[in-house]
Amino acid sequence: MAGEADREGAEAPFWRTTTLEAMSEAEWESLCDGCGRCCLNKLEDWDTGAIAWTNVACKLLDHGTCRCTNYPNRAEIVPDCISLTPEEVRTLSWLPPTCGYRLVADGKDLPWWHPLVSGDPETVHAAGISVRDRVVDETGIVLEDYENHLVEWPARVPRAGISPRRPAAKALKSVIGRRRA
Ligand code: SF4
Ligand code: SF4
Repeated sequence: MAGEADREGAEAPFWRTTTLEAMSEAEWESLCDGCGRCCLNKLEDWDTGAIAWTNVACKLLDHGTCRCTNYPNRAEIVPDCISLTPEEVRTLSWLPPTCGYRLVADGKDLPWWHPLVSGDPETVHAAGISVRDRVVDETGIVLEDYENHLVEWPARVPRAGISPRRPAAKALKSVIGRRRA
């Protein structure tokens, strides 16, 4: 139930207390961290159903912000763009492990870099979660060339995305140095 207090007495955020189905439209939309991973083209093996990621991005994806450049009209321009529903979140096997919808559907909390936690839309890029500057536009790329664009990182969580923010190694070394002195 929304508004429930957590163990520390602070009000728990909505994604811990509200089911995907019960979220308001604004809450639902805010669960998207803006990574852009789901806007990459994927290859599906017709025999096994196995999914392979590519770094080939939808033509509407902004490679810097990692947001859709025409979100309200995307269905008309890109007919195979998927508008996620709670049911799809629970059944689509390829949703990235970092995806805010997938995390909440799996009963997990949102990580430090999620804009809803950090309050900063840049942290999803700083943590190496987003597709910023590592994708190519699909325009002009023929299907036969997709195999030259296979990548595995969209299905992974980078190290910086797992760990809470810590002092950089250099800073930690200097603290140890001071203690020894
Ligand atoms: S993978 Fe999930 S969090 Fe990332 S852009 Fe797509 S819907 Fe949003
Ligand atoms: S139309 Fe927009 S939301 Fe859909 S895949 Fe393309 S960039 Fe992503």
